Amino acid sequence: MILHVDMDAFFASIEEAINPRLKGKPLIVGSRGNRMHTVVCAANYAAKALGIHSGMPTKRAYSIYSKLEFVAADQAKYIWTSEQIFELLKGFKLPLNYASIDEFQLDLSGNGHLNPVSLGKEIKAQIYANFNISASVGIAKNWLLAKLASKLNKPDGLTLIDDSNFEQTLRKASLDKLCGMGGKNGQILMAKGLKTCWDLYLNLPGFFDNNPGKFDEDSGKSSEKPKSVSHSYTLPKNQINPQVIQAWIRLLSEMVATRLRQQNLTSTTVHLWLNGPEIGDFGAQRTHQTPTNDGYEICQRAIKIMSKLLKDHPKIRAIGVTCRGLSWNSYQPLLSEEIRREGLIQALDRINNRFGDGVIYPAITALTR
Ligand SMILES: [Mg+2]
Repeated sequence: MILHVDMDAFFASIEEAINPRLKGKPLIVGSRGNRMHTVVCAANYAAKALGIHSGMPTKRAYSIYSKLEFVAADQAKYIWTSEQIFELLKGFKLPLNYASIDEFQLDLSGNGHLNPVSLGKEIKAQIYANFNISASVGIAKNWLLAKLASKLNKPDGLTLIDDSNFEQTLRKASLDKLCGMGGKNGQILMAKGLKTCWDLYLNLPGFFDNNPGKFDEDSGKSSEKPKSVSHSYTLPKNQINPQVIQAWIRLLSEMVATRLRQQNLTSTTVHLWLNGPEIGDFGAQRTHQTPTNDGYEICQRAIKIMSKLLKDHPKIRAIGVTCRGLSWNSYQPLLSEEIRREGLIQALDRINNRFGDGVIYPAITALTR
């Protein structure tokens, strides 16, 4: 059993808890600078009730409700609170995973004597007593379902999905509640007629299995780590169109990234190799501080190498993308943008694993076909 803790409107709740004057009033947290020209980082439940949500331009939010309270985001404060909650959860002496800045997972398997619902209540009570903010808890056999459960009765929810209510719960849960299905993927599947999580289960029962979470620190480490992962391709003819060349770099980057993720690896160094009649063999690499296994990011790094070193547009005949500087994946994304991308990537991997490689690839790679 996994117990997933998801803080309710985390950034906004922290601001409300610190400044009681704001309590219950529609409130948004936005970037510093001009409050009319930024986007909503977080909205409290009073603002959500008006239809205001994160990602919305603040201008639009103010047009919905002109007396909206505004607080500039204070990342350090949120990270600090997050770390304090993590410390509190450590006190339960269970395997613990820091899933994101406002999400935490406890692994209850092997602790059959624990009553998961009582434990969930205790965790919620302790968080509220210490920080004056609420959390929603979801409990289920794996992290995907536990995370879904945490979303179903927000705010201040406590939801258990087990065999007795599995079908009934999934029938009531719209597909976009599921991790990775909030954006395009969800829209693609909804257009195919899959409206609820139950519809997805009927089509892909395995989707909801085998999500043990990331607790096992030794998983994948027994095998030797490769030195590099690479893919290359020789084009049918010389190519000069930079958009097509970039599309190929993107596709090769996605292929490399998929292999990195399959082996639970990340990379800091990207090497780009190009071959053409004017440039001969061209190769250069750059090392970055932040490790990645995201095809988009690898592609951006490779294109930077190309645009720095090749000023005009030479003819290109062959392209190779290599990732070096590999380490086992332990990086936890902090910024919401990164977290969204990770959820998206995990969903894409599951779909591509199920339907065959490359069913869903970024639109730009269509130029390679
Ligand atoms: Mg949350």
